[in-house]
Amino acid sequence: MQITAIHLYAVQFPLKEPFVISYHAYHTMPAVILKMETDEGITGYGEGVPDEHVTGETWESVFYTLKNTLGPALIGQNPLEIEKIHDRMNQAIYAAPTSKAAVDIACFDLTGKKWGMPVYQLIGGRYHEKFPLAYTLSIDSPDAMAEQALKMKKQGYRFLKIKVGTSIEEDVERIKAVRSRVGNDIAIRVDVNQGWKTSTIALKALKQLEEWQIDWVEQPVAADDIDGLAEIRAKTVIPVMIDEGLKGTREMRETIQKRAADKVNIKLMKCGGIYPAVKLAHQAELAGIECQIGSMVESSVGSAAGFHVAFSKKVITSVELTGPLKFSKDIGHLAYDVPFISLPEKPGLGVEVNEETLEELTAFQETIR
Ligand code: MG
Repeated sequence: MQITAIHLYAVQFPLKEPFVISYHAYHTMPAVILKMETDEGITGYGEGVPDEHVTGETWESVFYTLKNTLGPALIGQNPLEIEKIHDRMNQAIYAAPTSKAAVDIACFDLTGKKWGMPVYQLIGGRYHEKFPLAYTLSIDSPDAMAEQALKMKKQGYRFLKIKVGTSIEEDVERIKAVRSRVGNDIAIRVDVNQGWKTSTIALKALKQLEEWQIDWVEQPVAADDIDGLAEIRAKTVIPVMIDEGLKGTREMRETIQKRAADKVNIKLMKCGGIYPAVKLAHQAELAGIECQIGSMVESSVGSAAGFHVAFSKKVITSVELTGPLKFSKDIGHLAYDVPFISLPEKPGLGVEVNEETLEELTAFQETIR
């Protein structure tokens, strides 16, 4: 099989509500959708959703990296040879994981379609039967967040992720307000998105939260401060998760060596797609670290790719892929059985892309042959 054409669509997905985290507020979600054509007439879809604060890639840079650098290097290659595809991409450009993820996901979609099986069958088969969805609360006033949390509890959610990271006084108040309102029979995770900056500040906040039943605290300090994370882990009883600080295997190795985290948040957009994500999960498993599959708020295409990884690995114990639920318009129909996730059973990613909607949401596009 040979790649004959790559179509790129720079898309803005409309969000139902603005998504607010410590370092940004999003009103639409920029993504690059990649459609890969082959000489056998089979087509695969991929997606790249950049977060410039995490990988240094932007909407435009992902588009042009794919158009000018990765796309031309891949025409004529065999998309079924995923190890070779990654090697070729790594030789063409350093890092750029989001651009590589778009290619990787399309190759897996193609491979699954070619062999008539869902992607999870290609990477270990189904392990998990069910994953509960966690609802993410955007940063707001303590009262508004508590109100929203209660509403979600009534809708059936049993897992909440609270976004914080402004000042520790406000943040502690937010967390206590949510816990007080929803009671103790619901899990709460806290994502600081680097907002507490240093281990000293983070420890001051965590000291006040030790009695408040927090599952884990995610990325309390600056991304590159893995030493700070290790210090926090040694000095608090609240489990620590690394997110922005962990992109690929290099950071995973450092996290393991420094015993800096109880749990890691793997995202296809940070590590380069399905294949590198599987490698990271195996690396974590060897060190006895649990994993979560997260996302950059992706459409049905990118989210499905994450699901296939999550469902196939025992070491992956939680999932956060709720992009499609946040969009008012999507290019596919990934099924959510709120508050649970359903895994697509059709060949490839199992997502049928609506080309009309794709065109409608596209700001600019390009084809490489
Ligand atoms: Mg996070």
